[in-house]
Amino acid sequence: MPFYQGLNYGGSEWTPQFIKEIDQELCIGCGRCVKVCSQAALGFGNLNDDEDADRMQSKIDQKENCIGCMACGKTCVKRAISFEAKAI
Ligand code: SF4
Ligand code: SF4
Repeated sequence: MPFYQGLNYGGSEWTPQFIKEIDQELCIGCGRCVKVCSQAALGFGNLNDDEDADRMQSKIDQKENCIGCMACGKTCVKRAISFEAKAI
């Protein structure tokens, strides 16, 4: 199955890995992934309105903005973010 391909500065092909999911069981709400994303694809907020009102977590806000750089995953100490290539 063919996937989206990119070219690096040297002209070599690479396969972008787009954000797939943030595991809310693992996320501790540090916010690093939101800060590092240059494409404003991620947001931050309380995702558990009826449980712990003070618990903040990250979420995928604008998946369509993702360029598949995986920077968010590299900065996540909890390995809460998963990725996938996108089929053409
Ligand atoms: S970097 Fe990881 S633990 Fe921190 S807010 Fe993002 S997903 Fe959650
Ligand atoms: S893979 Fe890159 S562009 Fe996509 S959400 Fe993570 S940091 Fe943002």
